[in-house]
Amino acid sequence: MEEHIANTCRGGVQKCHNAHQTATSGLIFKESFLWEKSREGRCAVSIPAQDVEESLLDPELTSDPPELPQLSEMDVVRHYTRLSQWNFGVDSGMYPLGSCTMKYNPKTNEVQAARPGFAGAHPLLDEDLCQGALEMIYNLEQYLAEITGMEAVTLQPAAGAHGELAGMLAIHAYHAKMGHQRSKIIIPDTAHGTNPASATLCGYESINIHSGEDGILTPEAVAAVMDEETAGIMITNPNTLGLFEENIKEIADIVHAKGGLVYGDGANMNAIMGIVKPGDLGIDVIHLNLHKTFSTPHGGGGPGSGPIAVVKALEPFLPVPRVQKKDDRYTLVYDKPDSMGRMLTFHGHFGIMVRAYSYILTMGAKGLTDVSKLAVLNANYIKECLREDLHLPYDRPCMHECVFTDKFQADNGVSTLDMAKRIMDYGFHPPTVYFPLVVHGAIMIEPTETESKETIDQFIGAFKSIVQEAKENPEILKSAPHLAKLSRLDEVSAARKPVLRG
Ligand SMILES: *Cc1c(COP(=O)(O)O)cnc(C)c1O
Repeated sequence: MEEHIANTCRGGVQKCHNAHQTATSGLIFKESFLWEKSREGRCAVSIPAQDVEESLLDPELTSDPPELPQLSEMDVVRHYTRLSQWNFGVDSGMYPLGSCTMKYNPKTNEVQAARPGFAGAHPLLDEDLCQGALEMIYNLEQYLAEITGMEAVTLQPAAGAHGELAGMLAIHAYHAKMGHQRSKIIIPDTAHGTNPASATLCGYESINIHSGEDGILTPEAVAAVMDEETAGIMITNPNTLGLFEENIKEIADIVHAKGGLVYGDGANMNAIMGIVKPGDLGIDVIHLNLHKTFSTPHGGGGPGSGPIAVVKALEPFLPVPRVQKKDDRYTLVYDKPDSMGRMLTFHGHFGIMVRAYSYILTMGAKGLTDVSKLAVLNANYIKECLREDLHLPYDRPCMHECVFTDKFQADNGVSTLDMAKRIMDYGFHPPTVYFPLVVHGAIMIEPTETESKETIDQFIGAFKSIVQEAKENPEILKSAPHLAKLSRLDEVSAARKPVLRG
């Protein structure tokens, strides 16, 4: 396969070498705060003259009116329209943010989620009046159980990190039930920061272990620390370097032999759907990020969904209510004595579930498998095409994302950050930078399955141009971006001394 990628790649890249800068500064407006636009007496609504007697509210309430900007309707419309034009999203261009799976989300999923029966359903509706919604929840749980190879699923957690917490609570409850609570959890150095955070919230001490030289965990490293005071391991597969943890089965056996459980961080499920089931790898509980793998627009802190799928032994601890099916009728079951309780109000982020359900049904089993195959192919294609230009810390086939570093550019004083800033001038959102932490100067690229070959070639061409610029004119990189409305921001002050008020 690698040879094939390398050959196709040569043709593709030649075409787009000396890439054009596709970004343009264009007619994008500066925009001030609404408070600065405010003019005394300006108002966005015209209300007919009053024809009834004036009746004053409680003077306590009206004596100190809120300080709101006074604006015309057009002021407001232009303000928000202009702000929306500053936004860059998957719908505007390629967004190769490693670890985030910023794929294109088919619009039909939005249409389904907006159907009045779904969008208008009140979470407190009587069961008889929301059988369809309960059926959707039930079916989605079944599909996710099938995809992960697990026994049961809860859709309650609000995001990946929240799913991790739910999963760790299940592990915690399991050990309590077994009569011996444990104090530690093993977490590899490649883990997402949320892993140790979730373990800590459950009172576990994180035991950090190092990945081997080839970027994956060795059974020996796990065996060296696994003992009967250790609740289990949190393992991401494919890991955050985009590499498949090939020893996972052996590692799971080591953990199980000492009575521990295996938590799978399934944020990278986009690489393995239909190809391998986490349940077959010895994983006991795994979270999925519906907003990554199953097509919900994300970024900007919008709602997500982080279902967990568990093996039979962990099912009793799942949050309530559980949706149960009996004789074609769906009911909510609260009576689960070992349940961890609720993880979220009502049933979780329902609209995200509808999107995922619609996505799974429209893709079908073969479609989902193709998604993973293409995501992996695209990442390997980029890796092969840029291997001469950027340093590859782990030179082996990758999964859905590939990781480079800025080592080749260091002599010219050019850093990962400089290249990431410069690629905006070429019309691309920068890749993830400086993550995972184990790679110095990491540039982590996840093209996803939804980008066309033309776009990916354009992206590769842009990176090749940037690498050329790094040799010939490093200054152009150090002051990039040049076409963005704002160039280098003082990120430290922005984080340390944020100005949050107008
Ligand atoms: C995104 C991600 C998470 C956290 O998921 P959220 O939905 O952002 O809370 C956890 N682990 C990995 C590997 C991730 O990529």
